[in-house]
Amino acid sequence: MVDVDGRLPTAPMVDRERLLATFLALVAVDSPTGHEEAIGAELEARFGELGCDIRRDEIGNLVAVYPGTVEGTILVSTHMDTAGTDRGIRPIIGDDGIIRTDGSTILGADDKSGIAGCLELLTLLREHPETWHPTIEFVVSVGEESGLVGSRHLDMNGLSATHGFVLDTAGAMGSITYWSPTSVYLTITLHGRKAHAGVEPEKGISAVQVAADAIAAMPLGRIDEETVANVGIVSGGEARNIIPDRVVLQGMARSHDQAKLDAQLALMRRACEQAAAARGASVEFEAEEIYRTYKIAEDALPYREAASAIRSLGLEVIPRKSGGGTDGNHFNAQGIPCVALSTGMVDEHATTEHIAIDDLVLAARTLVAIVTLPPEGHP
Ligand SMILES: [Zn+2]
Repeated sequence: MVDVDGRLPTAPMVDRERLLATFLALVAVDSPTGHEEAIGAELEARFGELGCDIRRDEIGNLVAVYPGTVEGTILVSTHMDTAGTDRGIRPIIGDDGIIRTDGSTILGADDKSGIAGCLELLTLLREHPETWHPTIEFVVSVGEESGLVGSRHLDMNGLSATHGFVLDTAGAMGSITYWSPTSVYLTITLHGRKAHAGVEPEKGISAVQVAADAIAAMPLGRIDEETVANVGIVSGGEARNIIPDRVVLQGMARSHDQAKLDAQLALMRRACEQAAAARGASVEFEAEEIYRTYKIAEDALPYREAASAIRSLGLEVIPRKSGGGTDGNHFNAQGIPCVALSTGMVDEHATTEHIAIDDLVLAARTLVAIVTLPPEGHP
């Protein structure tokens, strides 16, 4: 049942019932971010049984390599952890073909939908050993929901992939996330001087007042089309009658344009420094890059392959610019160009999270098409 190119005859060979059963089984395994023991063991067993070479690193990232029948290696990226602390997730299939929970937990389609697609792909390749496909490096990270912790610590020197696909976004089926922002976490500590507010306020320097001045002087919210910034947590102070000597501000800034982000961070830093200087206080301004922007051109390999696969299913390609990051930001930063694809998940991280079975199937079919489409230039 294979044509001369050794290609699966058509992508629709994805087995809907089997894929659904895999998804439901994965969702039932607890996996709150930072507690990936159970899901890690489950996935190690499943990818191993399906013929992959398995590696786990010291923090639990899983790398499963499935040997190709032709030259070339691609990366397929997912993550095994789920957002928040929910356990005991029980999926419910509605009459409308949509999988939800009872509303007391998230569903965990982020990112079990992506993983289920990988396992279905492997099952198909095992059933059709004559199929044309490159070597596939599946990276299933831990700690993605805690700020891309797993992929940040992954040793990418151990990977051979020339390009890759991240199965971890919401958005319409057919969308290709080609552009993602840089995200920076800010921790700003303002130091004043403690004094008794009732007895000798003249001796104090209020870190709260410095913080108020600094925040008031900062551009926040939507800065421009590419850039956003926020101060999300303000903490400090001890008592009503003590002039506070320390306030910590936690915030973030993101931009799809690195120069605009740098300019925004400079403005935020200056607001803090000027507010501190005006009152004789001091400031520590820490900006930690969590992930870096990437932009994949339409004519770059991962974009082209994803687009042909999507079109081969009769879907329209929808270029998507994301407001957040994925493990793909780290792969891109480390020289493995990746695009991110929709898995069908909707409302991820919320108790209203859901996924249509039809979209779960479409996402798996897209992956199968990416892997089994003949190489470019091939007749
Ligand atoms: Zn995710």
